[in-house]
Amino acid sequence: MSETYDVIVVGAGPGGYVAAIRAAQLGMKVACIDDWKRADGKPAPGGTCTNVGCIPSKALLQSSENYAHAGHGYAEHGIDVAGLSIDVPRMLARKDKVVAQNNDGILYLFKKNKVAFFHGVGAFAGRAGDGWAIEVAGPGAARLVGRNVVVATGSTPRALPGVPFDEERVLSNSGALAIRSVPARLGVIGAGVIGLEMGSVWRRLGSEVVVLEALPTFLAAADEAVAREALRVFQRQGLAIHLGATVGAVESGADGVHVDWTDAKGGAHADTFDRLIVSIGRLPRTEGLDAKSVGLAIDERGFVVVDESCRTNLPGVWAVGDVVRGPMLAHKSEEEGVAVAERIAGQHPHVDFGTIPWVIYTSPEIAWVGRTEQQLKADGVAYKAGSFPFLANGRARAIGDTTGFVKILADAKTDRVLGMHVMGTMASELVSEGVMAMEFGASAADIARICHAHPTLSEATKEAALAVDGRTLNL
Ligand code: FAD
Ligand code: NAD
Repeated sequence: MSETYDVIVVGAGPGGYVAAIRAAQLGMKVACIDDWKRADGKPAPGGTCTNVGCIPSKALLQSSENYAHAGHGYAEHGIDVAGLSIDVPRMLARKDKVVAQNNDGILYLFKKNKVAFFHGVGAFAGRAGDGWAIEVAGPGAARLVGRNVVVATGSTPRALPGVPFDEERVLSNSGALAIRSVPARLGVIGAGVIGLEMGSVWRRLGSEVVVLEALPTFLAAADEAVAREALRVFQRQGLAIHLGATVGAVESGADGVHVDWTDAKGGAHADTFDRLIVSIGRLPRTEGLDAKSVGLAIDERGFVVVDESCRTNLPGVWAVGDVVRGPMLAHKSEEEGVAVAERIAGQHPHVDFGTIPWVIYTSPEIAWVGRTEQQLKADGVAYKAGSFPFLANGRARAIGDTTGFVKILADAKTDRVLGMHVMGTMASELVSEGVMAMEFGASAADIARICHAHPTLSEATKEAALAVDGRTLNL
């Protein structure tokens, strides 16, 4: 006999586990299936984000930033650190502990919300009445029936053609988060989010880092002013970033990984690295799901095809997160997961792609929401821009990091906020004010009128809003 559920969620990453919890909160009988396992074989719900993505990368970014501060940043505070050293295995053990705490937290939340968890690979096994049969293979083997199925199977790293990840020399994000000693020379292919974040971790710990980026522009998705300044700062920090690079042969040998590449001017280079991180984007994951057997529509790039409500071509089958179109971000997956659970319950939620924030957790951090100045120009929108540098912000001076600025873009006629771009300490937290402003249809003048605590970094946001109207108080 197979147990019937109102909702079966396949995948317990941020899209899946949050969908399962929300559906359970709404009174539905819910099962969630996930195949990720820890070293000892036990379940590790949380997906890419928890196991080899957001959480472990931020743990290592914090550790390496602490090390960098102790090495270079504390002296001016009168703190002298003698005999500074880094114990990489201990740093990795801490990261693993943080990951395990998050895995356990999700298992606890499943119990608390009465979500039945099945550890294993979930696959479609045909129609069952007006629902779908799902077969679980693995430690939690079972046959389930779901009136609704939410596919939240995430993504996997994209390899260079003909260069598979061995996770020893040629590393995906998984290997990049588990390097056991500081590589003398680290190569990074792709100056995207992973390349910059992981390159920063190992540079701070002492690696010579060379980043090879195919595009001629740096951080093409960011506002041009931010991207320009970020490139300058990262290069000054010691990241060797080569734009317009074409990677040729890549071969692993006993002495390292050999990479042939051509620079933007056509100059040929041959480099040898101790390790090579390949971070050139990610691919949607549907293998294991047996999607073909039921005719689930998948596009030519491997994404499950959905409409704006995350409905697939099959009745009662939904898909959310990295496995569908849109940005591959944990919070985007979560928003879609919640919205699908609410739709199944008959509600009418809405996910606004125009107010999804982006964050790059380098130092300084880079964060933005809404449109960039170049997008507004391309869209022919008349706008006003206001910027304020952290150099003129009291809290930033007290912290000892005045890099970067806040920039607000507002409609020239209505003053409505169209975008906010931040580069600097805690940009990831500051951007929430821009998200809030845009969600509420606020104007730059609204932000300028709000009382911001002193001294805070957020005063730079208020000043940038004042700058939109040409009336900064502290610059
Ligand atoms: P996933 O997290 O990939 O989860 C899918 C789950 O489904 C996995 O556990 C998978 O094993 C399981 N699964 C797949 N198929 C099956 C099956 N047939 N049966 C059972 N289980 C299955 N995003 C941010 O917003 N902020 C960040 O700081 C950030 N940092 C990142 C750092 C790195 C190094 C990487 C790689 C990614 C990062 N991301 C970040 C992106 C983020 O991790 C993803 O956008 C997010 O995890 C997607 O969530 P998801 O639920 O769609 O899929
Ligand atoms: P990405 O899309 O951010 O960057 C990939 C980069 O590689 C691009 O700049 C691209 O031009 C370049 N590239 C592609 N092919 C190349 C080649 N052959 N040679 C040289 N360069 C090449 O992808 P990513 O960094 O791999 O990250 C994957 C996903 O994970 C992203 O979609 C991102 O949203 C997500 N992620 C998010 C965060 C965050 O939110 N802080 C952190 C890490 C990852």
